[in-house]
Amino acid sequence: MHHYCMVFFHKDSFFASTLFYKDSLIMVQEIQLRVLPHLAANTDSLRQYVSEEKGIAMSALKGVRILKRSIDARQRTIFVNLKVRLYVNELPCDDVFPCIDYPDVSAAKPVIVVGAGPGGLFAALRLIELGLRPVVLERGKDVHERKKDLAAIARTQQVDEESNYCFGEGGAGAYSDGKLFTRSKKRGNTDKILQVFCQHGASTDILCDAHPHIGTDRLPQVIEAMRNTILSCGGEVLFSTKMTRLLFENDTVVGCVAGERVFSGPVILATGHSARDVYAYLNEAKVEIEPKGIAVGVRLEHPAHLIDQIQYHSKEGRGQWLPAAEYSFVTQVDGRGVYSFCMCPGGFVIPAATGPGQVVVNGMSPASRGTQWSNSGMVVEVRPEDIDGDDVLRVMRYQARLERDCWQQANMRQTAPAQRMTDFVNGKLSYDLPRSSYAPGLVSSPLHFWMPQPVTTRLQQGFKAFGRQAHGFLTNEAVMIGVETRTSAPIRIVRNAETLQHVRIKGLFPCGEGAGYAGGIVSAGVDGERCAEMCARWIAEN
Ligand SMILES: Cc1cc2nc3c(=O)[nH]c(=O)nc-3n(C[C@H](O)[C@H](O)[C@H](O)COP(=O)(O)OP(=O)(O)OC[C@H]3O[C@@H](n4cnc5c(N)ncnc54)[C@H](O)[C@@H]3O)c2cc1C
Repeated sequence: MHHYCMVFFHKDSFFASTLFYKDSLIMVQEIQLRVLPHLAANTDSLRQYVSEEKGIAMSALKGVRILKRSIDARQRTIFVNLKVRLYVNELPCDDVFPCIDYPDVSAAKPVIVVGAGPGGLFAALRLIELGLRPVVLERGKDVHERKKDLAAIARTQQVDEESNYCFGEGGAGAYSDGKLFTRSKKRGNTDKILQVFCQHGASTDILCDAHPHIGTDRLPQVIEAMRNTILSCGGEVLFSTKMTRLLFENDTVVGCVAGERVFSGPVILATGHSARDVYAYLNEAKVEIEPKGIAVGVRLEHPAHLIDQIQYHSKEGRGQWLPAAEYSFVTQVDGRGVYSFCMCPGGFVIPAATGPGQVVVNGMSPASRGTQWSNSGMVVEVRPEDIDGDDVLRVMRYQARLERDCWQQANMRQTAPAQRMTDFVNGKLSYDLPRSSYAPGLVSSPLHFWMPQPVTTRLQQGFKAFGRQAHGFLTNEAVMIGVETRTSAPIRIVRNAETLQHVRIKGLFPCGEGAGYAGGIVSAGVDGERCAEMCARWIAEN
């Protein structure tokens, strides 16, 4: 007996071409819907709605699968836009995503991957697909051990130089917010990255949400599962193993050194934006690098209900069916961009320093996005030409100086300097501060006074503009927490655009955010895959 199955793409119209089997209609069809939030809340309510709207008996409508989901909050009435697949007299048995069969590579040629962030992990998995054996070197601890060092920051006010919010298994992506939204479609297959996350335990919701998000509480298990795939295929993942130098033969990298150990093979260098010792080493070793623009500013934290009220145009806020609201602002002030960055609705502000004598903040949120606060980076673009001198490391030094100033303002602890938002705009010290999610604590400080003036004056102008765009956003209920400096890498490790090898040195593949070729989890993952592919090609040709 045959089952007929057809897929149609047709906007909100059900009666497209159909196939009949015996007397019953059998069809799989994709349609667009615009529904109220409570109807989109689960597939049962959605199935009931489609059944009534489209006149299909519930008994015939075997399933409704959401393919794309986004919230339209532009008008007073909030709608959810959906693309759904309907299964009429047909069981929804097709796979949600293709699973990759990773082969055994225990006897294959090794490739060294330095750094177990998203760039390094996706490079390692792709190497396995291509029949090569990844040897992953990670300076920090495994994703679970690392958690203890993160918890200790608020308790002891100390930051472990090798195990913190940026260093350790999963890299800066592990205890990050886990937003998987990227604007860069051009660099490779972002869907594949999401599917690999799902294969390793992430919710399949990330495949349909317009702004997919895993959540900081769910990421560690996913990362551990990725490590287990690498190990079970014969790859290696070594923790507390810091690469200290590369091994060269003429203009080719043939391996690297970590402590007493020597590793042989081409190197995918995915060390992230915070490995300042790696940049300093590359500079000394005369491996070509160049300064790159960054953005610096503060974390801005509002009560989540206030952001919900503003964005959902309702005193009730998000109500029962909507998620904590997001926002995104951007403007130009005196020739430089001022914008919100890495927004974390219902999240926390966290201490993201990578060593002593620094205060750096960032943000993250759990899968539920259920805390009382919503935060985002509020940053101003800084270009290499804005900083005096021609030292190739000058943007990195500028970043480091600002973090040190911030630590001094914070009484040489992790308690971050902070100021209420309207006070900052008016150039006034805040005599008290609101409650905050930042666990190490806040200390009132005149950010407008000691932060670099090109940043503060632009932030002041930017905040006024954002306050005009969203009534209620510019408020003293919001607190600014200093300083946000690790928005992207201050250096680019220059590479050949086609081979992805370093521009002069063969066998070295600068990868991910630290090399200046990615700006988030997904783009780092895509770049990791591309580096693995180019490395495999180079091995095949040599
Ligand atoms: C708190 C926070 C929240 C974030 N939220 C989001 C978000 O929601 N969405 C998003 O897309 N991005 C987010 N980001 C940014 C994102 O995490 C990074 O863009 C991404 O992790 C970059 O990946 P990567 O692999 O290039 O580098 P990294 O993730 O930085 O990984 C580099 C790894 O290399 C290791 N390493 C460094 N030097 C050495 C060495 N010498 N030897 C061995 N190992 C070394 C480090 O320990 C680290 O594990 C967030 C970042 C932070 C800190």
